[in-house]
Amino acid sequence: MARVALVTGGMGGLGEAVCIKLAALGYKVVTTYSPGNTKAESWLSQMKEQGYDFKAYPCDVSDYDSAQACVRQVEQDVGPVDVLVNNAGITRDMTFKKMDKPNWDAVMKTNLDSVFNMTKPVCDGMVERGWGRIINISSVNGQKGAFGQTNYSAAKAGMHGFTKALALEVARKGVTVNTISPGYIGTKMVMDIPSEVLESKIIPQIPMGRLGKPEEVAGLVAYLSSEEAAFVTGANIAINGGQHMQ
Ligand code: NDP
Repeated sequence: MARVALVTGGMGGLGEAVCIKLAALGYKVVTTYSPGNTKAESWLSQMKEQGYDFKAYPCDVSDYDSAQACVRQVEQDVGPVDVLVNNAGITRDMTFKKMDKPNWDAVMKTNLDSVFNMTKPVCDGMVERGWGRIINISSVNGQKGAFGQTNYSAAKAGMHGFTKALALEVARKGVTVNTISPGYIGTKMVMDIPSEVLESKIIPQIPMGRLGKPEEVAGLVAYLSSEEAAFVTGANIAINGGQHMQ
């Protein structure tokens, strides 16, 4: 029986690469999109043309009830979730001086509360079945901090605290919980940064002299989802071209 993988935010740059990789490996892949996203249908048909028959559900990952309803529907339609990739995320960058409460809250809710909201309805089932993979997509900026990102760095660092604590609780039950901390990857989130800032400030910080590729992160997600990764838990794996080494 194919395992079911639920990838939040699968229509974004990184999430799409993760969906494609997991599907290619034989997982039944389900993803989510924000309830207001009008491009979901066209993304699904585009993927279908490429041979990927994904299912997608509207879900505001920052909202507890929306997340519970989404997982219930997925389980009813497709089956219990074996692999959860908490990938959906946003940035609202501004210096702390300008940071207001709505932009703080939006980033905390979408990047950190979402991890609780989505993990809560799948974790007990994984424990009962004795197998599960929870993979949280954090960021290099959660590890080292970043100018203008007090909200994002706090949320992304918080994700790894969650990973470590939950990993301890479920370690004996065949469920692993890990964090991936990508550096700058060439997705829309990064391409929205003005090109002069990318060229003069960001690329020079990366020893490999280039942005990462979504497929490179997807390969790591695939590994952590696999049988071979059964002994990896509570880890925070950096994938950043050498930008930050711990
Ligand atoms: P994108 O902006 O391309 O994709 C983000 C995804 O998150 C979209 O699919 C979006 O769905 C979804 N999303 C946002 N808010 C919500 C919400 N409230 N409910 C449900 N879904 C939501 O970003 P990336 O693909 O680049 O980033 C993916 C993850 O990787 C993020 O967590 C990001 O922080 C992290 N990351 C990215 C890096 C990079 O360099 N790109 C580096 C390090 C970490 P919709 O469009 O439907 O709203």
